[in-house]
Amino acid sequence: MVTRSALIWLSGQEGLKDFAARFKFFKKLTTRFVAGETLDEVIPFIRELNAENCTASFDHLNESVGNADEADKEVREYLKILERIDETRVRSNVSIKLTQFGLGLDAELAYKNARRVVEEAKRRGNFVRVDMEGSDVTQVTIDIFKRLRSEFELNDVGIVLQSYLRRTYADAQELVKLPARIRICKGAYNEPPEVAFPDKKETDHNYVKVMQLLLSSGVYHGVATHDPKMIDATVDFVTREGIGKEKFEFQMLYGVRRDLQRQLARDGYNVRVYVPYGKHWYPYFMRRLAERPANIWFVMKNLVKG
Ligand SMILES: Cc1cc2nc3c(=O)[nH]c(=O)nc-3n(C[C@H](O)[C@H](O)[C@H](O)COP(=O)(O)OP(=O)(O)OC[C@H]3O[C@@H](n4cnc5c(N)ncnc54)[C@H](O)[C@@H]3O)c2cc1C
Repeated sequence: MVTRSALIWLSGQEGLKDFAARFKFFKKLTTRFVAGETLDEVIPFIRELNAENCTASFDHLNESVGNADEADKEVREYLKILERIDETRVRSNVSIKLTQFGLGLDAELAYKNARRVVEEAKRRGNFVRVDMEGSDVTQVTIDIFKRLRSEFELNDVGIVLQSYLRRTYADAQELVKLPARIRICKGAYNEPPEVAFPDKKETDHNYVKVMQLLLSSGVYHGVATHDPKMIDATVDFVTREGIGKEKFEFQMLYGVRRDLQRQLARDGYNVRVYVPYGKHWYPYFMRRLAERPANIWFVMKNLVKG
């Protein structure tokens, strides 16, 4: 638990990124979770996923941009992704982070930037998922999403909720009424016990509760997890309730439990893989290390090998 918090804390220390990037082995390690640095490097991986009956979601890595020009560059990268998806006919949507579009500078700027991407996705018949970040931006992320949702259709834009947050069940109840397409995940940031369950059991319990609420709503939602207990609970629930496999999708991260991704796709479930790419891999990579103690040993082993 201490290691997890420390790694998540380190993920926010941008200064360490340049230090880490100097080690060739570190950069090599990132390829386990990050598909490449450029859009063109990523397309072949998405084709491979599609060939195995998995869809994808592009994520251009660059959280918390420092100025409006950088945010605009991020918008243009996403417009390019949407164009490339059409050109290459890969089966993928996109995931965005509002801090990438300037949320830390000005909420109105982030809304306008996100709107440009949703508008283009709609024009192309694609879909934008708004990722959820730290609890300091949960409310403003939901507010911006609701604004977008009021201007666009259900199948144009969706949001993410995190089961470790105490507020999430109430948020899910409110958002399903819109209706809205929701990805439920456990949550990947350091949060104080006032806002998030400190106990993993409570997070898991809440995950199952929210998953059941979402899948009972008849809207197409995403169940994002690699946890076999959460997957079994989902499979048991849909089987018991007679909810068809085509009514929702499992979602997993690039580089994590590829075996499970393939198995679920073979079993006839919809599976979407979240595929991050870009030069600003540091915070994302550190959060992935934090999720599993064995990942630290993976790094240590490679450090020793040089
Ligand atoms: C598609 C997708 C989108 C996401 N979007 C967001 C988001 O918008 N906001 C947010 O806060 N979080 C997001 N997350 C991350 C999520 O919140 C969790 O941090 C992450 O998925 C780990 O939780 P878990 O459900 O896999 O369960 P855990 O209990 O953490 O893990 C269960 C098992 O999965 C395997 N596993 C999990 N993570 C790893 C890893 N990194 N490396 C190797 N094995 C691993 C291990 O076998 C582990 O024992 C997303 C996750 C997915 C899959």
